[in-house]
This record gives sequence, structure tokens and C-alpha cells, in this order.
Amino acid sequence: MNPIRAVKGMNDVLPDEIGRWQHIEAAFARSMRLHGFREVRTPYVETTGLFVRAIGEVTDVVEKEMYSFAHHGEELTLRPEGTAGVARAYVEHAVHAKEPVSRWYYTGAMFRAERPQRGRYRQFYQLGAEIYGDPGPACDAELIDMLAAFLGDLGIGDVEVLVNSLGGPLTRARYKEALVTYLTPRASELSPDSQRRLLTSPLRILDSKSPIDQALVADAPSLHDVFDPSDRDHFASLERHLQALGTPYRIEPRLVRGLDYYTRTLFEMKGAKNKLGAGDTLLGGGRYDGMIADLGGPVVPAIGFAAGLERLLIASDNVPSSPTVDTFVAPLGQEAVSYALLFARDLRRLGVACEVDARGLSLKSLLRRANSLGARVVVILGESELRDEVVQVKDLVGHGQQRLRREEALHAVSELLRAPTAGHP
Ligand code: AMP
Repeated sequence: MNPIRAVKGMNDVLPDEIGRWQHIEAAFARSMRLHGFREVRTPYVETTGLFVRAIGEVTDVVEKEMYSFAHHGEELTLRPEGTAGVARAYVEHAVHAKEPVSRWYYTGAMFRAERPQRGRYRQFYQLGAEIYGDPGPACDAELIDMLAAFLGDLGIGDVEVLVNSLGGPLTRARYKEALVTYLTPRASELSPDSQRRLLTSPLRILDSKSPIDQALVADAPSLHDVFDPSDRDHFASLERHLQALGTPYRIEPRLVRGLDYYTRTLFEMKGAKNKLGAGDTLLGGGRYDGMIADLGGPVVPAIGFAAGLERLLIASDNVPSSPTVDTFVAPLGQEAVSYALLFARDLRRLGVACEVDARGLSLKSLLRRANSLGARVVVILGESELRDEVVQVKDLVGHGQQRLRREEALHAVSELLRAPTAGHP
């Protein structure tokens, strides 16, 4: 019979790998807590209309990459990104009326029907956050600085921080006009995709991957030339704050990112290019001051970002995998098994993670398994220990072994686990 396999582009994360995932998730949660963010969880499935309205109809995500289906007359979609659902929740629960500023973060799976390759999957995990009610630019700078530090904490090298501003609606309208005027006489030279975008969303031509398009837009007018004064001030203050914080960044005037909803501040971070594809970003984000009103809420400024967890894993070195258990309980012979179960239960009550191996293995095999689980201490219980109501406590780091009474042994194990583990593999 043919084995059943996982869906293409959707991966299992086995327990051997989970330590690295949890390390990154914990570092992220810590960073979020230090910056006053609280976690939000929204559904994996939303109405298709939400993404069309929030992300924009003429985006790659909405045009080509959504997993959509009809169910009992409703058009539904597996979320391709987190911002739309979180913004929907913010509006639906009228959160603006309860608190002037909300700092929320999320983690979880996203789904896009893209061509799978290294760092690009059909189910992937994002770490993301949103700030509602703060027009920036101070919080924009704080977010960018926090993310640069987060990537540094994960040991990701060669981090490149790109920032830009798309301006507000006035600037964008003016720029669209300038860009269309510039590109229209050259339209026949553009790639077919960009020819189509010239009519639907001309700004997207700026981040076209086609070398011909890139050469054409290299001389196009810059967004920064047509900034509205308030947009110019916003961007200038963002730069001032970033400089004060000492965050290295580079202005990339052609950075627009694929989603339609961005206004003003926009950023992307890349790193570890030797491990990821050159075009692959680790994270990206920006301001989307119009979305809350577009979704039927009041006018509330907003900024957010999302990082790809798998890409962080590929890019980061030295993320330790944690031991499975602290203590390994090894009964020798069937008589000692109940005694071992009882002792293990007492250890767990003291907060010690332990595993009992009651398969009747030899002491040598038991010790080999204790090592492979990363245990620091082995508790050996044989027939003579059972008779004398004692246990053997073996320290796999210090290599000592003690024969102790039960109560003393419980105490000794806890003490050994508290001691520094330097030198332990
Ligand atoms: P986006 O929501 O497109 O701005 O993407 C934000 C981040 O999510 C990217 O920088 C990637 O790290 C990650 N990402 C986006 N699409 C994928 C994908 N198909 N597979 C893995 N990671 C992805």
C-alpha cells in the first residue's frame, strides 16, 4: 500500500527539532513582554472578503496564493497572513473605545499556495505584532530597533535593515501619477506582469524581480521627491530616532513590499544571505493607517510586522536544543519497577522532569539511554536498594555516585540539578 504523505509544502516539526523552535518562540515572547505587548489569538479561517478588503485585490497573495473554499454558502480562506485577522478582531471588539493604544502580538501558522522551496512553504509560521492607536514615528523606530536586536539575539549575522516611507494617501496618489507618466511611454519594454500592473497597481512595479523592469525603474522619479510636508516630517523624525538609538539602517526608496495596505513607514530585514536565498527577507512590516477604517472601524493609526519562523531557524546559529529530561530513573529487575514509579512521582512533585525506563534493560543500556536523553542524573534502583529502602544517585556530570536513603536522595537530586552544568555535553 502507498504510504500517505504530508501535503506538498507543509512540513512536520518533529520533537528532535522542536527545541530550536521553542527557543525562538520564547525569545520572541520575552522581547514582546519587555516592550509591553500582549498576545492575541485569532482564527485560522476568516471570510475571503476580509483578505480581499484588507490586503487588496491586486496583490500576489490575494490573486494567486490563497487557499479559499466555499462552505455552506460562505466564502472562506485559510489565513495567508496575520494582520488582517488581528485588525478585524480589533474592530469587531471595539477595542479603540477601551484603550487608546493597543500592543498585540501573535504567533502561528499561515497558508499560501506558493511554489515550495527552501525558506518558502505553503504552511509556514509567523511571529508578528501590531500597535494600534499610535501614529509614530517614535514607536516605528522602537519596533525597528527591537527587531534588529531580536535578530542579533538569535545570532543572525549580516543583518540588513531597509527602511522607506510610502507617504500618506496624498503622496501616494501624486507618486502613482508621476510613475505612470514616466512608465507609460516605456510600457512595451516592461515584463507582461508589470504591463498589467501599470494599470492596476503601478507601485508594485518598483519591487518587480525582473531585471528589465528593475533597469527601467532605476531612473524613475523617487517617492521621496513628491512627499507631502507631513510625510516628510514623519520620515525625518523616524530617521532621527533610529540614529539616536544607534540602529543601523539603509534607506531603500524603491522598497514598497507586496501588500497594498501600507502607508508611510515601511521596513524589511534580511540576514545570513549565505543560508537563505538572496531575495528572501527574514521579516517585514510597516504602517497601515487606513486599514482599521477600511474594515469599518474608526480612523486608528497602526503599524505591524511579521517574521517567518522557519527563515529565522535557517538563519540562526547556535540555538541550543534542550535535554528531554533532567533525571533518568533506572529500575534493575521487575521487582524494582513500582519503587521506581513511586520515586519518579516524588521527583516530579519537586519539579524534576524524569523518565522511568521499565523495559528491563541492562545497566549499561540504561546509562546509554540516559545520556542520549541529555539527563544529568541517573537514579538506579536494584533489588538490594529496594530491600534497604535506599537508592543510588549517579551524577553524569561530576561522575560521582552516592547510596542514599529515599528522602536524602530526593534532596540530593534537586541539589545536583541546581548546580552549574558547565562541561556537560
Ligand atoms: P509578508 O507577510 O509577505 O510580509 O512576509 C513576512 C515574512 O513571512 C517574510 O519576511 C518571511 O520571513 C515569511 N514568509 C512569507 N511567506 C512565506 C512562505 N511562503 N514560507 C515561509 N516564510 C514566509
